[in-house]
Amino acid sequence: MNLGTGRNAPGKTFAAIFVAFLLLPLAAGADNKPDLKPGYNFYSPREDAELGQEYSAQVNKQLPLLDDAAALNYLNELGKRLVAFAPDNQPEYAWKFRIVNSPEINAFALPGGYIYVNRGVFDAAENEAQLAGVIAHESGHVVMRHGTHIASQTLLAQGGLVIIDSILGQRGNIASQLAQLGLGLGVDSLLLKNSRSAETQADEVGAYILYQAGYDPHAMAQFFQIIARKYPQRTLQFFSDHPNPENRVQDVDQEIAQLGPPRTRAIDDAEFEGIKQTLASLTPPPERKGTPKVDAGNRPPPPPSENLARFDGKIFTLEYPDNWQAQRGEDNVALFPPGGMVTGSEGETAQAYGMSVSLYEPEQGKNWGLIDATQELLESMRQSNPQLHVLQQTGMNLHGNPAVSTLLQNDSPLQGQRETDHLVTVRRRDTVLAFIFIAPAGTFKFYAPTFDRMLQSIDLAR
Ligand SMILES: [Zn+2]
Repeated sequence: MNLGTGRNAPGKTFAAIFVAFLLLPLAAGADNKPDLKPGYNFYSPREDAELGQEYSAQVNKQLPLLDDAAALNYLNELGKRLVAFAPDNQPEYAWKFRIVNSPEINAFALPGGYIYVNRGVFDAAENEAQLAGVIAHESGHVVMRHGTHIASQTLLAQGGLVIIDSILGQRGNIASQLAQLGLGLGVDSLLLKNSRSAETQADEVGAYILYQAGYDPHAMAQFFQIIARKYPQRTLQFFSDHPNPENRVQDVDQEIAQLGPPRTRAIDDAEFEGIKQTLASLTPPPERKGTPKVDAGNRPPPPPSENLARFDGKIFTLEYPDNWQAQRGEDNVALFPPGGMVTGSEGETAQAYGMSVSLYEPEQGKNWGLIDATQELLESMRQSNPQLHVLQQTGMNLHGNPAVSTLLQNDSPLQGQRETDHLVTVRRRDTVLAFIFIAPAGTFKFYAPTFDRMLQSIDLAR
């Protein structure tokens, strides 16, 4: 382009371009959302909403909910006001907010906009901005679709070998199969495994929402810091569900600096204070949340110890909670918490909690494949467990060894309860080495982190 000639005065054009360049990034910084996009996902937002609806129906039955009308109304109004600013919000999302009657300081989100805030959060929050921070963070998990994103990552990591219910021959879409897992696997895989990067993203969305809604965007990260220091015991589950990203406060500060000039408005905390007092005046919540429900004859086991003991087998070693015991049989080992072995309906001893390891010799000679051998093993297990159902089967990698991961549903030896089992099979010479993780369906999620640690610790001797 020839800048020297033309009908417009060149100086003016330059000035206009110069000003436009200056204004553009500023305008974008002030009004544009930071780059907040969900990761890849095999599910649709509609499936997120469907999954969330199914899980929430179960959660609502299993968790003690507080139905104080004023508090629920307040929470839902506050929640809806906040999510109106959420990036990538989808019309399918339900946005339902509930209060769990628990003193633990925790909150969680199910896919599709079902958010649960514990009573303990109201108790610990010093102002509405801090409560809003918790809701905004949970909303971040919803709109960034972390539950189904992580489920998608798991499917992808397993090498694409996804055989859904091959043994029963029932095929459905992955979402409905996962939904069948109910609380057992559902909350485990869709909730508990929020990674640190998911947490960082939920923080970013949370700070963005707070900023747009006129709250101090620092309130969220500050609240997480305060509660970790002030109430270490009451926040264990929160930081297990939401692993603390490194440099959380600094990262959030940095992001806030990019959002634009402060827009914090004066917040009237009167309504918040009123609700906080109402909740504080209600009957105190039960002491411990998440105590497994069992019938009167069987006491729930104490929580697994954080400290691990080592089990040395002939062909494998692994670590397990040091308040569990190991019981060696002829070609099997049971590791279980106190009370984990119960008497079944026919007077037999059965394992309701823990892990068992056994060796299985396939009947098909030496040329067997692991998938067929696993199927044979399942058929033999079904003889003593007629209600055993395969929910999902995938290939996995157990420290360099090809393995098959099978999720099962079964009747628990605890009367009237279902159980979730995770079977991992791997070939050892001419036999199948089978690890089974066992817990009643409603409590599987509490054991999932322990089971994960145990699985990670397995070492197969050469
Ligand atoms: Zn989180």
